[in-house]
Amino acid sequence: MWKFWIVNITFDIGLKNFMKYYSLNKKSPIVNFKGATINGQAPDKGLYFPEKLPEVSSALIENIENLPDAEIAFRVIEPYVGDCIPNLDLFDIVKETVNFPIPLKKVGDNISSLELFHGPTLAFKDVGARFMSRCLGYFLKNEERKVTVLVATSGDTGGAVANGFYDVKGVNVIILYPKGRVSPVQEKQLTTLGKNIIALEVDGTFDDCQQMVKQAFIDKEINEKRFLTSANSINVARWLPQQFYYFFAYKQWKEKGKQPVVCVPSGNFGNICAGLLAKVTGLPLGHFIAACNVNDIVSDYLKTEKLVPKTAVATLSNAMDVGNPSNFVRIIELFQKEFPALKNNLSSYTITDTETIETIKRIYTQYHYTLDPHGAVAWLALERYLEQFPDQKGFILETAHPVKFPDAVIEATGKGVEIPPSISSIMHREKETVEIKPDFESLKDYLLA
Ligand SMILES: *Cc1c(COP(=O)(O)O)cnc(C)c1O
Repeated sequence: MWKFWIVNITFDIGLKNFMKYYSLNKKSPIVNFKGATINGQAPDKGLYFPEKLPEVSSALIENIENLPDAEIAFRVIEPYVGDCIPNLDLFDIVKETVNFPIPLKKVGDNISSLELFHGPTLAFKDVGARFMSRCLGYFLKNEERKVTVLVATSGDTGGAVANGFYDVKGVNVIILYPKGRVSPVQEKQLTTLGKNIIALEVDGTFDDCQQMVKQAFIDKEINEKRFLTSANSINVARWLPQQFYYFFAYKQWKEKGKQPVVCVPSGNFGNICAGLLAKVTGLPLGHFIAACNVNDIVSDYLKTEKLVPKTAVATLSNAMDVGNPSNFVRIIELFQKEFPALKNNLSSYTITDTETIETIKRIYTQYHYTLDPHGAVAWLALERYLEQFPDQKGFILETAHPVKFPDAVIEATGKGVEIPPSISSIMHREKETVEIKPDFESLKDYLLA
């Protein structure tokens, strides 16, 4: 019955491995994929990491141009899921996760753009959120308890999580967002779904929202009444599927003999960490660049080998305004804490808001291609690297559709961005929110009511 889907590769049905995950703080029990997905973070507050990294099969790499995306994704994720989800169910989950195009478009002479914004909420987070929600839904299928996913958003995460978890049985989603501080498209994505998705409009900042959520996770009373979990990028079920599109990029890369330089606009460093994991396990990619806005503690780390958190500063590429990137410890672990190896594989550049606007403008004028602020940060960072290595070529990850950041794009190009038909329908829907004050007690009252 497998043969339907799998044209070129057969399943190793008898040889299921049992991937285990340990906490990077080393003080929690080992768990399997199910345990890591449901827990999110380990009890000792560490991030989960796979015990033994699988090797990408050479057959997959050699045949990649002939394989459907869903089959590639299945092959990539299967060893990480192990026996927690049967192959047929996992294949369905993967097929739904990547049911939209992820094209690699050549834009400049030596720079291409991997467009990750064709999913339902127009951001790369759709991939991780769709995969995670379906896995969690699968694990809770036969359980009595209902899970509440609690998440704070500055814009993009909330939309992807809301959409990914929409109508998933056994899961309620509560999203906190700062009133008046997300873009119109983002707000509609958060507030118009209904059913199991509730948007709390907080009369405060994103930091307030995040603080309230953090407190809720450690509050005894709330945790006795509700089973809370988070859907942020530290969850392995959100982190690992982000490898998929690095494989799709390689599938579309024309010069297979020449490894592409990969440039990722980075905030919490989950996305780039997934790419590095793909590379370390066998996907032939070249040097990696972490493109950052002025929140750039990783640049300092690469110079000094010291990771010193800073308070985040607000920028135009606000999904990357992170002063203490939570996934960076996974990158350090990936290179077995060997600083020289890490440095050989990873560089970082810092791009200012002024440079971001200039880049959107210049690329629009030169190539008629509209970058969003995050993509623009990546573009300029990759240009800087290629100035030093002019014989190389590479691609950026364009992580969001420019329509989600209209102010910056209008400032740079003088033109608005057309709303894609896929979401123009939600722009007419009425928003539904519960307004709450920016303090923990208000959230607690809501959760206990
Ligand atoms: C979340 C986000 C990022 C940063 O991704 P990380 O995995 O946190 O590094 C970059 N761009 C956009 C548009 C995002 O929404």
